[in-house]
Amino acid sequence: MIYETYSPEETFEIGKKLAQKTGAGEIICLNGDLGVGKTVFTQGFAVGLDITENVNSPTFTIVQVYDEGRVPLYHFDVYRIGDPEEMYEIGYEEYFFGDGVCLIEWSNLIEELIPEGSTKVIIEKDMTKGTDYRKITVEGKNEDIGN
Ligand code: ADP
Ligand code: MG
Repeated sequence: MIYETYSPEETFEIGKKLAQKTGAGEIICLNGDLGVGKTVFTQGFAVGLDITENVNSPTFTIVQVYDEGRVPLYHFDVYRIGDPEEMYEIGYEEYFFGDGVCLIEWSNLIEELIPEGSTKVIIEKDMTKGTDYRKITVEGKNEDIGN
């Protein structure tokens, strides 16, 4: 499914709605260039899981855990990962195959570790449609967030 947004608030809302359809054990892969809106999307996603704590990009850690929502959120940002091997060092399987929801920014960098059946979200700009336009492609079993 393709969603189009024209403001950060609308992108936030798409994240929130997707989270409301997402249950324990699911993995959301989030990709797109720097500054495209991945953090905005993730903040909406957290709110959709009833997390009230502010969510930011986990700059110095690969994964940040938010425990106070409807289900735990494991927020990964693997942008700075040098080698997928580092994922083993943090024990990523505990999260990927655990009882929470994983949202993985820059999942493309660890493609070989992403389980089948994960939901894919890609955010893209299109300058011909304005600076605030974003095309959000969602692929996976919860992709229809409208109902
Ligand atoms: P990323 O995490 O992908 O690097 P951020 O979410 O931190 O990107 O930043 C996205 C920036 O783009 C913010 O400054 C936000 O206000 C701006 N922006 C403008 N239009 C949109 C939109 N439609 N959706 C999301 N962000 C937008
Ligand atoms: Mg970010």
